[in-house]
Amino acid sequence: MKTPREKYRNDPKYRYMVDSMVAAIHKCHYTPSEMREAAVLASIIYDESRIREYRIPMIPKSVENALEVMEEVDEALASVHQSITKDNCIHDARTRGTEGFFCRDCDQYFHKDSPTYRSGELLSSLWMALNNISVGSFRAGKGDIREALDMKAKIGIGVAHDNYEDLISEAEGLLAKYGRDVNEAYVVIEHMPVSGLKKRT
Ligand SMILES: [Zn+2]
Repeated sequence: MKTPREKYRNDPKYRYMVDSMVAAIHKCHYTPSEMREAAVLASIIYDESRIREYRIPMIPKSVENALEVMEEVDEALASVHQSITKDNCIHDARTRGTEGFFCRDCDQYFHKDSPTYRSGELLSSLWMALNNISVGSFRAGKGDIREALDMKAKIGIGVAHDNYEDLISEAEGLLAKYGRDVNEAYVVIEHMPVSGLKKRT
């Protein structure tokens, strides 16, 4: 049997599939395990459509196919993983700690003072904190916090900023104005009570 690398080199369709996965990891932030799930789901959907077509119970076959696909996807992902270097890694596989995060893809640790941490992890936590104070205000019947929403839009999702330190200061200043900080990102907002439900006694 050919190795994933050999298939990647010699089979254009296979290469296309792997390249699409690399693009998906880069652009859409799908994790390798989500793509693995997707491949299993694709196989199941395919078999379900065949079952409808022929009205033959084929469940065991679909499980078998799913396992085959999972194996193929594992091989393909292993070859994707091999192509990750310290320079091209987008640090998707994060193990987070209080002092920073470790990227399991490129085996690097990023301290909370590092540019990678501050421009990515910290900015997205600030985004979430701004989101949460605005949602909290809305649910308390005081409406959205407009400037928090504007700041969120300025930070964006997954956007790289050269002036990230400016955005951090601005966002932190805004949170401070409402007596909050980045820890608000980790606050779970309670669901709004649904009217018409029986009153708890
Ligand atoms: Zn990495």
